[in-house]
Amino acid sequence: MIKIVGIGPRRDDMTLRALQALEEAEIVIGYGGYTRQIDDLLEGKEVISKGMGQEVNRAELAIDYSSKGYKVALISSGDPGVYGMANVLHQVMGKYAGVEVEVIPGVTAVNYSAALLGAPLHDFTVISLSDILTPLSEIKRKVRAATKADFIIAFYNPRSKRRTKPFQEALQILKDIRKGETPVGIVKTSDEGSKINITSLGGLKEDEVDMNTTVIVGNTFTYVDNGKMVTPRGYVLPHSTHPLAWEFYEKYLAGEGNKGPNMACEYYPCHSHPQNCTFCYCPFYPCGDPSTGGRWIKEKKVWSCEDCTWIHQDDTVQCIEGKLSQLLEKVEDLQDNKKKLLKLRRECVYLTK
Ligand code: SF4
Repeated sequence: MIKIVGIGPRRDDMTLRALQALEEAEIVIGYGGYTRQIDDLLEGKEVISKGMGQEVNRAELAIDYSSKGYKVALISSGDPGVYGMANVLHQVMGKYAGVEVEVIPGVTAVNYSAALLGAPLHDFTVISLSDILTPLSEIKRKVRAATKADFIIAFYNPRSKRRTKPFQEALQILKDIRKGETPVGIVKTSDEGSKINITSLGGLKEDEVDMNTTVIVGNTFTYVDNGKMVTPRGYVLPHSTHPLAWEFYEKYLAGEGNKGPNMACEYYPCHSHPQNCTFCYCPFYPCGDPSTGGRWIKEKKVWSCEDCTWIHQDDTVQCIEGKLSQLLEKVEDLQDNKKKLLKLRRECVYLTK
């Protein structure tokens, strides 16, 4: 039996199953850098350490020892199924009969990095920028598709001293499609620990990134709060409808609402001129999503929309009005249909922001 063991990004992040698999193994095979990382766990075992680039050789060795009846652990950093040894072994073992394999999953770099950065992941994709085995044209096609589809993107193997072009090209695609202020998390891991930096697409410095770095690029909804990178899931926050908002929506539903800028209002422009005042009171309040400018006034636990100009853009109003009548027939629907309203908001943020 061969157990392909994911040892995570660092020794401390190994799972109990991984530890158990190592304990049971008689032969441990892996890249030298990884076996050294866990050498205190390998006492009394035969350890075969190989160099980088000898993945197929390691897989063949594991199959060979296993066929002789040994319990083999084949080490993979992170998770064996994410650019790890599971794929190599399965590819190689096709030519042998009776090889038994079990994959022991591990913490992959994207989970590890996301945990350090805050909570940046929602729907996401992981793309390796190594063009050693993959044509650059394929990498670029995937980066472009993921960027257009508004996936959060985690880049593995982004840049080495000699291999700088894939990262440059990926950055260019991102900058052509996403806004410069899109948050970007950079996690650099070494034997001494991990260093993080949260910057923006526009502020990202290429030379900050190397082969030991994982880069996570946020999407339309990702924001930075208190030094943490967050992509909200859109949960409904408890609230009650303010009496002034109630009054406003009674008029709005009776067809007496204001359309466009309300120059007659003594507070106009409460944000910046020109502004569309159709939704003087936001139907999504409190959205709890700072990506359009709202924020918590922490000590008061109040959601402030002071800096959200998105709700006052013409294209936003147009997008919301297209579907609002199906969700809002009476003022109570502001609360009763909150989930659907927040879904409409997401749709319009994506289309207009
Ligand atoms: S005005 Fe903006 S920040 Fe406030 S609830 Fe509406 S969408 Fe959210």
